[in-house]
Amino acid sequence: MNVHESEKLAGILEDKGYVLSEKLEDADVVVFNTCCIRESAETHAYGNIGALKKLKKAKKSLIVAVGGCMTEQVGAKEKLKNTFPFVDIIFGANNPNEFKFLLENKLKLVHDEKDDRESFVRTSFPNAWINIVYGCNNFCSYCIVPYVKGRERSRSENAIMQEVDTVINQGYKEITLLGQNVNSYGKDTGTSFCELLEKICTTYKDSKFRLRFMSNHPKDITEELIKVIAKYPNIICPYIHFPLQSGSTDILRKMNRKYTKENYLDKIDLIRKYIPDCSISTDIIVGFPGETDFDYQETIDVVNKVKFSGAFTFVYSKRSGTVAAEMDNQISKEVKKQRITNLVALQNSITKESTKIYLGKEVEILVEGYDEKRNLYLGRDVYNRMGYFPCEEDLIGQFVTIKVDRVNGVSLFGELIRR
Ligand code: SAH
Ligand code: SF4
Repeated sequence: MNVHESEKLAGILEDKGYVLSEKLEDADVVVFNTCCIRESAETHAYGNIGALKKLKKAKKSLIVAVGGCMTEQVGAKEKLKNTFPFVDIIFGANNPNEFKFLLENKLKLVHDEKDDRESFVRTSFPNAWINIVYGCNNFCSYCIVPYVKGRERSRSENAIMQEVDTVINQGYKEITLLGQNVNSYGKDTGTSFCELLEKICTTYKDSKFRLRFMSNHPKDITEELIKVIAKYPNIICPYIHFPLQSGSTDILRKMNRKYTKENYLDKIDLIRKYIPDCSISTDIIVGFPGETDFDYQETIDVVNKVKFSGAFTFVYSKRSGTVAAEMDNQISKEVKKQRITNLVALQNSITKESTKIYLGKEVEILVEGYDEKRNLYLGRDVYNRMGYFPCEEDLIGQFVTIKVDRVNGVSLFGELIRR
């Protein structure tokens, strides 16, 4: 999502005639698109902004802009202004047009357009990201997103379909629909996520492309949605990002996630009933306030039972303004560290096991890049596995088949056998 937000900022700059500069020293405008979901992201941003002071001193015409969700926290804009007086533009997270407006003011230009269409430079061919719903209404107790991104707002189906049409005509081969909770799409505009998926799949049934979406909220994923995914196996990838956060029902309640360990496992069974080969990835937080050894073992139990294809694992980070930040029994750094280390080791061993199954198999890959270090092309299969292969020709944007002869961790290596 952040990469896509940056594409929008880049699009605004490109409309103004700017081009991407290879070196920081050559830039006329530097834009920081920040994230405040965890403290470490914020610390990085502060460090990187501070590092620009010297450059700005040497090059007075340089425009430095800081935006994104970090600036939306209470008092953050003032704090940024005081800490970095050399920053020219501070803009929010929810409206790239604010950046455009402030930039134009800075450049003394006029501004008069604003609509549901979005302009941007896509940097990720052949993968296109499309926002379908902004903001979040869920208020998970640890999470700052609803405070900095505001309430849920669905984009109009027309605007989304137009964007889908554009990227398909431009030859993009994979579309990822984005939302903090895609399952909420359309609740405010009288339509639904299932209807949107059906519409895309029926309109473009004769095009060869892949459709993905993220994130799903376990409380909102329905049998109807799983059936829609199963109904279009040639378009919708058998891959669901399904954030667990914790395996302990008690912690889930304190997180305000609105499901239990059992509900979660039941939904996993439902997914596998309709889509037996479905690859399921997840997000997990360890060290939430009050998390006991028992609670942590409940998470480990779910990880062992589900066998996720991949997991983004996080140490709980206290975000001021959220409900959890005020909770008693914050967990010590040592305990958090031990829990995350064990969890990562367990998930790595599960991933490694599941990778072995690929040996000797033929896999269809959408080629999306070239790895300079390995001298190999790379791309993902429908399950989101990364595959590498040697080739003399530029095949980026094409579907090819490789035969896997070696695996390493999450990665597959093979020879090109068909294209
Ligand atoms: N809307 C998405 C998540 C967006 S944030 C969803 O609900 O799935 C991405 C991930 O960051 C979350 O799933 C969570 O695992 C993690 N995260 C959010 N707030 C956090 C915090 N305060 N500390 C640690 N991890 C956090
Ligand atoms: Fe944050 Fe929960 Fe909303 Fe995801 S669903 S963005 S974790 S509040």
